[in-house]
Amino acid sequence: MTLERTLIDSHCHLDPKNFAEGSEPALGRARQSGVGAFVCIGVGGLAEAQYACALAERERDVVATVGVHPHDAAQNDPQLEASLLSLATQDQVVAIGEIGLDFHYDHAPRGTQKAVFRRYVRLARQLKKPVVIHTRNAPSETLEILESENARDVGGVIHCFSEDVAFARRVLDLGFMVSFSGIVTFKRAEAIQEVARWVGADSYLVETDSPYLAPVPKRGKPNEPAFLVHTAAFVAQLRGQSLDQVAADTTRNARRLFGKQLVLD
Ligand SMILES: [Zn+2]
Ligand SMILES: [Zn+2]
Repeated sequence: MTLERTLIDSHCHLDPKNFAEGSEPALGRARQSGVGAFVCIGVGGLAEAQYACALAERERDVVATVGVHPHDAAQNDPQLEASLLSLATQDQVVAIGEIGLDFHYDHAPRGTQKAVFRRYVRLARQLKKPVVIHTRNAPSETLEILESENARDVGGVIHCFSEDVAFARRVLDLGFMVSFSGIVTFKRAEAIQEVARWVGADSYLVETDSPYLAPVPKRGKPNEPAFLVHTAAFVAQLRGQSLDQVAADTTRNARRLFGKQLVLD
């Protein structure tokens, strides 16, 4: 597989909890595989958010996000919110997220998830930064909050897209993008694959969501940004396009969404 263009991993978790050897070796392998920039998601607690910001400050091809994952919504309090807000004002923090609703695992009460999700959409609007959205088993509730909180003012992406064309259409109507993870390569992902064929060239990204959900043919292994090329190649095949075309489109889209801090060598 040869790749002339650079890919951007629009969503990866690189903190030490996930990469015991540190993130540098994984970043090195990814760069050699044609991944030229990384959006490191700082969720799970203040330590993870601080890690993402520090990594983005140190590595010129990494940018960060900070937020409260729906799984952790019950841990949100004014002190954490103030700390995340002060991190989020830094230049290398390009978005708020991942935030959203997860009614599959229900790790936090649904009412709490909704309230915290709303708070962070408001914070993103205040900071004029886009939002990275995690949504599972809560499509209508997620759209309702994004619409009523005017998230279209800042834009954003539905990461690890796992819904259907009808949902994707409403997401695009909001001015949002969708992002495909390794899930799109799975056998039973017909609905997601249909979205990958359907979506316009200006409205999608690719991601690994490392260390989770490695794409075929790496399925079952811990995922890492170097594997992004497999997902991008699969999407290219679905769309009947070259890998270079998918790389060019998704890179342009990621820079439009997250800004010029996404430096490519
Ligand atoms: Zn997620
Ligand atoms: Zn994630």
